[in-house]
Amino acid sequence: MECPRCHNQNVKRLYKLHGKYYCRQCIAFHRVWVDEPYTQDHTRFPPQKVRYSLDFELSKSQQDISRQLVYNYQNHYHSLVLAVCGSGKTEIVFELIQYALQRGDRVCFCIPRKELVKELYQRIKEAFHQIDIGLVYGGHIENINAQLIVCTMHQLYRFEKSGFHLMIADEVDAFPFYGNPVLQQIFMRCCIGNYVKLSATFVKEDIDGEELLIMNRRYHGYDLPVPQLIICPHCLQVLLISFLLKKWKKKVIVFVPLVQDVDKLACQLQSYTHLRVRGVSSIHKHNQDNLMALKNGDIDVIVSTTLLERGITIEDVQVIVYHGEHDLFDRRTLIQIAGRVGRKISHPQGHVYILSNEHTSSIRQCIHTIKNLNQMSV
Ligand SMILES: [Zn+2]
Repeated sequence: MECPRCHNQNVKRLYKLHGKYYCRQCIAFHRVWVDEPYTQDHTRFPPQKVRYSLDFELSKSQQDISRQLVYNYQNHYHSLVLAVCGSGKTEIVFELIQYALQRGDRVCFCIPRKELVKELYQRIKEAFHQIDIGLVYGGHIENINAQLIVCTMHQLYRFEKSGFHLMIADEVDAFPFYGNPVLQQIFMRCCIGNYVKLSATFVKEDIDGEELLIMNRRYHGYDLPVPQLIICPHCLQVLLISFLLKKWKKKVIVFVPLVQDVDKLACQLQSYTHLRVRGVSSIHKHNQDNLMALKNGDIDVIVSTTLLERGITIEDVQVIVYHGEHDLFDRRTLIQIAGRVGRKISHPQGHVYILSNEHTSSIRQCIHTIKNLNQMSV
């Protein structure tokens, strides 16, 4: 016996109800019966003359990948794009989305986290302003029958019966999609044509027969900032951060591993440096306000958990990792954190410091990966 959706065969997770079995492993996404016939209606839309518009031109490498993605889709290949942080990977799929919509294909653009899906929707809506676009995330359903849907991966189960000809998944290396077989199986059930997966940090083991495309340069052409590792005991790290903050006199995000570290470190830094410091985490309030305040220069420093590791762009920001040896700072997270720096062409470089009491394999791999990407000539 096997769940037709998540392929769970563990009988302890297959429950009997009214003489029929259903799967408990993927129950969070609507109940699936083991013997349930599975049909999809593969809705097509009338071909339309949709065109996207951007108020800037794609770089040469963005254009190359954009064209390659259309070619892969025309030839029924799946694509996997390794695009470094700050390379402008959202825009490289617009040409492909346009092509699919013009053919009458149904298209989905999904991303793991709710905080990022609204921003993604805004960017897509500005480019494809003449068509209806669906937006679906926890607690929000808008235009669910539209030809183009923007949603979180958690909401994909709503589309299993209809499916998409083209699926684009951003941040496939991020929690909760990465390492979650149920979400990944639902993604595959929704994909009735081809997919494009976008990631900033994947490794060889993540490649599963897709055509691999690499965008190793940022859109402005500068190298990715390579983290500086400072090995020092915990007791000296707060003093060292205070020293760096006073020396740089710039906007800084200090990443800490745990929620309980946020307020404690924010208080210490404020009292040592007299700078304006705020805390951000999943349990803090006013996170968006504090981010805006840092962007506008109304505060100097944010102490944050890994909540801010992705999806934020702040001009001329520097980052410091506190307790860098912690397990939560894995290779992927450290690469994303380093990727916050130097995103804008006005300040394409900056400081990334990792303070740690030991040299972990995650830190070593992060630095090695970034150096390799900088040296790669693609
Ligand atoms: Zn299941």
